[in-house]
Amino acid sequence: MPTVINGIGTWYYGRRRIHRLKNTCEFCNRMGELESYDTTLYFTVLYIPIVPLSQKRILYSCPYCRKHRVTNLKQWEAAKAQAIAQLMDKLGKAPDDRETIREAIALAHSYQDEALFDRLADGLASHWLEDATIQAQLGAAYSYFARRKEAEAAFRASLAVEDNPETRRQLGLTLMRQGRPEDALPYLRHILDEKIRDRAGLIYLLVEAYQAQGLHETALELMDRRDAAFPDLVDDKDVKKQRKVSERYQSSGKKVAAPHLDESGKTGYREGNWTARLPRIIAPLVILGLVVCYLGAAIWTGQARQVYLVNGWDLPYTVAINGRQESLLPGKPKAIRVAEGDISIEFPDGKIALEPIHCHIETPFFSRPFARQTFVINPDQVAVLSWEELVYALPPLPPPPPSAPPRYYAGNLLHTFKGIDYEFTDFPQNVKSEHGAPVKKTRVSVVSNFNQEQRLDLAAEVLDQKQQIQFGKNLLKLNPDDFYSLSWLIGRLPAQEGIDFLSTRLGARPILVEWHRHYQSLMEKKHPEVDLLPKYRQLAAENKGNADALYLLGRIDQQDLDESEKLLKQAAASRPPSVYAINALGYNALVQGEFADAVRWTQDAHKLAPQNPSIGIAYQKALMAAGKFDALLEQLRISQALPGMWLSALMERLKVYARKGDKKNTQATIEEMLQLMGPSANAQQRRSVQNALESTVCCCNGDVPGYLKLASEFSNGLDLHSAILQGKLSVAAGLAANQKDDASHLNSHALLHLTALKAGDKKIADRANASNFL
Ligand SMILES: [Zn+2]
Repeated sequence: MPTVINGIGTWYYGRRRIHRLKNTCEFCNRMGELESYDTTLYFTVLYIPIVPLSQKRILYSCPYCRKHRVTNLKQWEAAKAQAIAQLMDKLGKAPDDRETIREAIALAHSYQDEALFDRLADGLASHWLEDATIQAQLGAAYSYFARRKEAEAAFRASLAVEDNPETRRQLGLTLMRQGRPEDALPYLRHILDEKIRDRAGLIYLLVEAYQAQGLHETALELMDRRDAAFPDLVDDKDVKKQRKVSERYQSSGKKVAAPHLDESGKTGYREGNWTARLPRIIAPLVILGLVVCYLGAAIWTGQARQVYLVNGWDLPYTVAINGRQESLLPGKPKAIRVAEGDISIEFPDGKIALEPIHCHIETPFFSRPFARQTFVINPDQVAVLSWEELVYALPPLPPPPPSAPPRYYAGNLLHTFKGIDYEFTDFPQNVKSEHGAPVKKTRVSVVSNFNQEQRLDLAAEVLDQKQQIQFGKNLLKLNPDDFYSLSWLIGRLPAQEGIDFLSTRLGARPILVEWHRHYQSLMEKKHPEVDLLPKYRQLAAENKGNADALYLLGRIDQQDLDESEKLLKQAAASRPPSVYAINALGYNALVQGEFADAVRWTQDAHKLAPQNPSIGIAYQKALMAAGKFDALLEQLRISQALPGMWLSALMERLKVYARKGDKKNTQATIEEMLQLMGPSANAQQRRSVQNALESTVCCCNGDVPGYLKLASEFSNGLDLHSAILQGKLSVAAGLAANQKDDASHLNSHALLHLTALKAGDKKIADRANASNFL
């Protein structure tokens, strides 16, 4: 028997040359129409016949238990062909041989071949009307093909020649099957008369035949005679039931179904129709259907590609994608559908000073429905996207392989990701896993809730120099007042390019002070020969005493110092004042050692521009210099709450406690900073950080022996600072000369210069001073 499990397996499809016969099933013993037919065994998927495996001949398949015999159709056909060939050979040699004709009828019968049987019956057997045996055999064969009239004629012809009880009973059965119990009775009566016990079943059928005609009276009479002939059957369950039926319908004469005689009308032989061929084309049809669906999906997906729009800036704005307007909130992705191809992006609301741009999205046509790609359009090009991986595993199992570290993406108009499980949503708490094996999932999201410093740090990590420059320029297009991005960008541009870039916005009004400050600094460094005074005098004149213009004029290098002080004070006193001028005055006071003044000025500046970190830091420096520790701690408490400021605020706090001589809080702060290293840091790394922090404490306390001791622990030879502190100036000079040209280079030379001056070593002092200006 073919079997199908989970929709995959083998099954029979199609029926040809069907033979049906009402008979008893050899497996379950129930009476039913047993079917024999040619069919094809198919390999099936989801009950769809895909691959034909072999042709079969099914024999006597039971409608109740479905059991049957099966033989290979090829072998069946081959055996039949061989038998026919032999027969033809015999008939050729002796056409009128009685045994050969009987053999021929038996052959057609056993191969269930009605066409063959017809040829033999018409051509040969019709000549043998006088042969009782051949006629009886013909009758049986006609019955087999459910041709009742012809069977009746053959049986009658046989009996006319020679009486035979078995032939009588066959004729009786044929008559009963035609609904003629009265005609059948004479041929079956002998069973009762002679009490032929093993043919009693035919009497049972005869009763059924009477009941089917509504002749219950006659049926009851017959049943009485049966009880008399076969008393042992009286208590049989079916026999008793049969009697009850006739007793019940005796008066009404109702016709009752005869389950053992009635036939569906499908008995006998038929060739089968075109549906037998259907299974052969089902698989191609299904495949064609799938192809059409797939191509449809590919076309549809291409026409309606899902794309996420991401606003990476700090303010909402409207963008037109292929002319369709979409409003975007900061950090909130929006999924839209667009046709693949060129996509135009414009900024219709004027809130965003970016030029129209376009990008191109295209996926390979044939793999499109299966390609799991995530497209993200970031019109402002300043978003930072993160890709994360998470491994899910069940607790007692071995720990999962570590997840890949997050990856960041920035600076592109179009970002493309492959195989993302969660697009702009959180990882779920749980996922499904086969047999509890660890499962890897990925997600993509927009990084938000970070300050400009952190955004730029991430961008610097993932972009090359050229991309970083473009990223900075994009941020400044969005917000030219973004002083943090401005100094970040200027730090990455060669001096002349920086000057050229800054020059593009020097004419902007209100005056972009930070742009001018950077411009002045770069010009002083790159083009010291250029006198900026006329340019800034003109700016001050054009802006009629504008505080920022006065400040910018006052801070130029070429400016006379007294004049500079006068201009800065004028700018600070203007209404509105220049916060930069106030801060500059504080800075001047700080370098001149007038700490109380420094605190006063920088505090004013900080109040006016609380968000400006460089002004905030100047205020903190002034507080530190003036020894205003409590006010400084309060400032640090506020600034450490700002994103990205935690660590630097903590470091400053350490210095305050150290200078205050607050040993308990100093130690607590060192502990807090070591904690920040997390559990992954090893002992060596911890000691190194601790050493650095304790060195800082020594510096704050002026503890030279303590500093030298700590320095010797973590240095192979004498370092520059230790050499200076020990007064070994020539050693220090040698070390300074070998120092790489990095940020600390200037400080080292300045330090050496001052120490040498103090020690009266003019030679070293001059050399260190000269190095500073190389
Ligand atoms: Zn059965």
